[in-house]
Amino acid sequence: MQKLSFKFSHTSTDYYLSQGMTYLKQVTDQKSTVLITDENVYNAHSRRFRGWNTIVLKPGEEFKIQATVDAVIESLVGMEAGRTTTLVGVGGGVVTDITGYVASIYLRGVRFGFVPTSLLAMVDASIGGKNGIDVGLFKNMVGLIRQPAFILHDMIFLNTLPQVEWENGFAEIIKHACIKDAAMFTELERNTLKTYQGKKKPVSELVLRNALLKTKLVQRDEFEKGERRLLNFGHTLGHALENQYELLHGQAISIGMTYACHLSEQLAGFKQAGRVVSVLEKYHLPTYASFNKRQVFDVMKMDKKRELKEMNYVLLNKIGKGIVKTISLKQLEKIIQEL
Ligand code: ADP
Ligand code: ZN
Repeated sequence: MQKLSFKFSHTSTDYYLSQGMTYLKQVTDQKSTVLITDENVYNAHSRRFRGWNTIVLKPGEEFKIQATVDAVIESLVGMEAGRTTTLVGVGGGVVTDITGYVASIYLRGVRFGFVPTSLLAMVDASIGGKNGIDVGLFKNMVGLIRQPAFILHDMIFLNTLPQVEWENGFAEIIKHACIKDAAMFTELERNTLKTYQGKKKPVSELVLRNALLKTKLVQRDEFEKGERRLLNFGHTLGHALENQYELLHGQAISIGMTYACHLSEQLAGFKQAGRVVSVLEKYHLPTYASFNKRQVFDVMKMDKKRELKEMNYVLLNKIGKGIVKTISLKQLEKIIQEL
């Protein structure tokens, strides 16, 4: 496989999913490109950055904020980066989100692409064009939707990915299986983390399957008027938990998916919550957690997906079939308090 191209409303994105980072030179001119990465990725893979202009950020979600955006823009001005500059985010979801955001506003927009280095970024964060930053407790409060010019994968990066970040990525993979791909769900039930961490082929195939699943879903509904909302499965409660309890994103949405499964039992006749919870636990993700329901609900109400007194909540009809249901905040609060 050389290159796949996917058309979106304003651009098309080229996917190079089997070439590796050395191929980046064929995709973008080295002199007019600036790579943006974080300290962890840079320190573990400094060799791969040789010869490239690089901005290195501090790692972690707590730096996905406006101050980092300002600092990156200052560096770009210092480097005299102009309209023909390409920015390439080489890192996890934090790096790709910031890169996409800066590229969308710097000089009113320059070309950008991603080399996702975490499992989560490969299967989720780098795809779909959502970019932006957090504001206080609220995740992704500011940002826009703009598709990258290209996405390039190099599985070598996964060799240095910490165990907990593997688990983090599997939360989004399990999410994809729950909402859209029952066959993949069965595969995940049959396998374990070790299956994917052991050899190159199973993880490459899984990454490809998930990247394509998300890409096609986004293509059909780029601006989240309908079907794309399914990708928020586990996220409404998850985001509220993530900010208050300093969980990793994957851990937070895993708890969110657990609760969404039980809501689905009550509101959508779902009967397979036990299987979903088992798979989450199999991939070392948290499921039932005690949390301050009142407080979490208050943050959830502020979620950007709120629409007056009602909320669009993603539920499951069955494994592999997600649905969006409008629930009143009152009803939601009552059910969550009782769960
Ligand atoms: P996400 O989970 O959305 O990808 P981050 O960008 O915060 O979020 O990445 C998660 C963590 O994993 C960060 O600490 C990041 O520096 C680190 N990381 C990402 N890719 C690699 C890698 N290939 N090797 C080692 N650490 C990595
Ligand atoms: Zn997510």
